[in-house]
Amino acid sequence: MLQENLNQVEKNIQSACDKVGRKREEVTLIAVSKTKPVNMLSEVYNCGIRDFGENKVQEICEKREQLPEDIHWHMIGHLQRNKVKYIVSDVTLIHSVDTYRLAEEINIQAKKVHRIVPILIEVNIAGETTKFGISKEETLQLVEEVAKLENVRIQGLMTIAPFVNDPEENRLYFKKIKELSVDIAKENIDNVSMDILSMGMTGDYMVAIEEGATMVRVGTGIFGARDYNK
Ligand SMILES: *Cc1c(COP(=O)(O)O)cnc(C)c1O
Repeated sequence: MLQENLNQVEKNIQSACDKVGRKREEVTLIAVSKTKPVNMLSEVYNCGIRDFGENKVQEICEKREQLPEDIHWHMIGHLQRNKVKYIVSDVTLIHSVDTYRLAEEINIQAKKVHRIVPILIEVNIAGETTKFGISKEETLQLVEEVAKLENVRIQGLMTIAPFVNDPEENRLYFKKIKELSVDIAKENIDNVSMDILSMGMTGDYMVAIEEGATMVRVGTGIFGARDYNK
């Protein structure tokens, strides 16, 4: 059953790439497995997926113990500073850095385990008051400050677009963050690359790919609806 969902997502990714002349390899599919049981992650793993996204530190820690070691774990949710230490040794990419204080803590913990931890800066591109992420206007300054930390490495930007019924409504925001990432890349800041653009979820990943996403985070489209009451 999950194989069929994956086939559909894969087809959609391919057609979005085709539409704008991008190569399929330019886009990484992250299976967002939050709230889902380990047996479902296993099933998706057996279909060939190696990138999983979670939004809670505890869930990453519990699941990673029960699953193969070659999984790339992506932290995509709001991260509390006191929990950084639990994921710093193994996390592939932290998508949700939106303050200097958080980056500083990642830097401290990364130093302890002799790692340079890849991160993205989360941008609240639509300026929604209910969402985390730094404003578009403050992003460059945050990037410049975080770039000075030796044990974190900024690799790009992430955004969570507004919840909409018609994905076309988010095209403007995807364009905006792509533009921001190009502008920041032009600054040639030491230790900073803008290679990754993490945007697009089940409702809008095709539009996101058309606008330059290099990572899409798909949960419902692969695993089905989430039940938060469990
Ligand atoms: C839950 C979540 C997703 C996946 O959402 P779906 O709509 O289920 O695809 C993507 N990104 C973040 C940051 C999330 O928290």
